[in-house]
Amino acid sequence: MNIQRVSDTLGRLKAPAFRLEQLRRAVFRETSASYEEISVLPVSLRQALGQAGPLLSVSAQAVLVSGTQRAHKASLKLCDGQEVETVLLRPSPTRWTTCISCQVGCAIGCTFCATGLMGFSRHLTPEEITDQVLFWRQYMKQRGLEGRLDNVVYMGMGEPFACYDNVSESLKILMDQRQFAVGARHISVSTSGLVPQIERFGKDFPQVNLAVSLHAADDELRDRLVPINRAYPLARLGKALRTYLRSSSRKVFLEYVLLRGENDRPEDAERLIQYVKSLGPLELLHVNLILFNQTETRHGACSEESARVFHKRLRNADIRATVRQNLGRDIQGACGQLIAQAKH
Ligand code: SF4
Repeated sequence: MNIQRVSDTLGRLKAPAFRLEQLRRAVFRETSASYEEISVLPVSLRQALGQAGPLLSVSAQAVLVSGTQRAHKASLKLCDGQEVETVLLRPSPTRWTTCISCQVGCAIGCTFCATGLMGFSRHLTPEEITDQVLFWRQYMKQRGLEGRLDNVVYMGMGEPFACYDNVSESLKILMDQRQFAVGARHISVSTSGLVPQIERFGKDFPQVNLAVSLHAADDELRDRLVPINRAYPLARLGKALRTYLRSSSRKVFLEYVLLRGENDRPEDAERLIQYVKSLGPLELLHVNLILFNQTETRHGACSEESARVFHKRLRNADIRATVRQNLGRDIQGACGQLIAQAKH
């Protein structure tokens, strides 16, 4: 919902100030799905708001639900006909998390990522980014799904720091107590390693979690897997992360997708251990090992046993690490699998 447009419309109609508060309560607390539903507003006002623009800037094209019912993936149509995907996850019985997109496609081109294969089309607006959260809250209400959605991760389609201004605006909207009221510590932004924006983010949003898609701890391999490494190699990334850790004292999450025979060998684990140890206090660093979800790329998934061994090597070296649950694999909604029918 574009709160500025709503506010302008109410101002043009000379509606009293409390109408905006009523509308905010209806949309963000009671999760009304349309202006018509907000019966506390006069009909004329509801009609004027509807004529100014839809409450949601995205509409569901399709929703897939995993066999476990713990992952839901939606293809959302944008106003220009393009599509993005977003995922709703239930990692534990009482918690819901959404993984949202910030671009149609992505220009970074990580070789194991389905979104990267699409190429780049455009950035999402702040409204399109935050409306993914609103969409899922409405979906949960319609489906009678219990619990509250108040964890948001920017790990869907796109590189958040390539559209920093829009992502920054969307973060402010999500954290606004009068709107989504999501706590800063319940939001994570994941980057492939755009150093200038990491530096900016540390100053602008010191309470929001930072995740870095590392995937390799030597430049030669990372140049191939995560091409942004050619612009911001590991030494430069490490320097930015050390500064970030010193100034924020917040934990940094390092994402590492395990690719069979490429970055899952003992020597890869050793390089990762040395790199993590070079960054700062180990209690502020956490490695998320991700089992590769097969996409139409040349890469192969390592076995669960190899992942377990790799994990153990890190733990034996006092590195905090987990093997991430792979919710949504059966609906192509897991890490690296998001791809929509973008109309380039
Ligand atoms: S992993 Fe992220 S940054 Fe890399 S291509 Fe995919 S969406 Fe873009």
